[in-house]
Amino acid sequence: MRPVYLDYNATTPVDPRILEAMSRYYEQEPGNAGSRTHVYGQAAEAAVALARKRVARLLDADPEEIVFTSGATESNNTAFFGLEAYGRTEGRLHILASAIEHASVLDPLRVLRGRGFEVELVPVTPGGYVQPDEVARRLRPDTLLVSLMHANNETGVRQPIRDVASLLSGTGVLLHTDAAQTFGKDVEDLRAAGCDLISISAHKTYGPKGVGALYVRRHHGRRPPLSPLLYGGGQEWGLRSGTVPVPLVVGLGMAAELARTEHLSRRKADHAVRLAFLKTLERVDHTINGEPDRTQPHVLNVCFPGVDGEALMLALRDSLAFSNGAACSAARYTRSHVLQAMGLDDDHIASSVRFSWGPGVVSIPFDDLIEAVRSLRGSGL
Ligand code: PMP
Repeated sequence: MRPVYLDYNATTPVDPRILEAMSRYYEQEPGNAGSRTHVYGQAAEAAVALARKRVARLLDADPEEIVFTSGATESNNTAFFGLEAYGRTEGRLHILASAIEHASVLDPLRVLRGRGFEVELVPVTPGGYVQPDEVARRLRPDTLLVSLMHANNETGVRQPIRDVASLLSGTGVLLHTDAAQTFGKDVEDLRAAGCDLISISAHKTYGPKGVGALYVRRHHGRRPPLSPLLYGGGQEWGLRSGTVPVPLVVGLGMAAELARTEHLSRRKADHAVRLAFLKTLERVDHTINGEPDRTQPHVLNVCFPGVDGEALMLALRDSLAFSNGAACSAARYTRSHVLQAMGLDDDHIASSVRFSWGPGVVSIPFDDLIEAVRSLRGSGL
């Protein structure tokens, strides 16, 4: 028996329907979407066009606004480094980002800082969200961009992206959001957000790993002035050269299509698991990290005071698979910068873990969790 998988924010299992849609393009359709001279290329091109339409539909966008990439990391990097030249030409060298962004936002911004940009991190409340006023009062005439994630990967706390979009409206400041954790989930909020650039990924919403997209908004028929990171065959309107990975893109398109029809029922199922989880947690001393009213229904970041998070994961390794933060930074053994930004102290952070789930999770061995928390607390670990 393998442990129950409760690390959906790191990555989700692939929906069998998505796998089936993809497998046709591995097994029967070998074409390159750029090959115009034969039926194989045309079939691949049609599949890519359909996937683009599906992704666009979920974002309320035009298909021409979707640039396929290898995932949210590449989309984030493309957004920032792609705007570098424009920022210099316009004399806009000031960038705002929240303090709780993912490493694939913070690291490229650190590089831009080293190249002369002024990057300011906007603080968050103890509840784990940015207050729009904190953005407003940092805006300057030379601000190029605000980057605010749509929901945080460690806490599930949604950020007020719509309010920030309206305060930036008409200022010439571009708005980017890393929606890796909300694409296909917080569908309505993302549609209405009015962002210039949106990074998405397939593997957080039951699609394959290794594919995502950057939404690049057209304004009066013009795109934001992005330069490509990769040069070559000129695919994706010259913004992302490289042979389009047709089966992966088909998978992303299918993930978007299933999310369109199923996101509300999934949310309901996620919420039911949440209620059961919260009821279970009443049996032991704990606190929830992040403002509950703003948290996605499939995420719980919990502190068990007096219990070491690492020891808890180890004690439950045969029963529950979960994490203590972002999978990408888990390898680095650093204290969560997200929980730190929320003002939580080191002991609290060391006792915090993240559970995240999806509709595939039916039964959770809650008694094991409670027993492990009690016994570790008793042992002082
Ligand atoms: N941003 C956020 C908020 C994420 O959670 C992740 C995945 N851990 C990424 C970006 C990176 O996405 P990808 O794996 O598609 O590169």
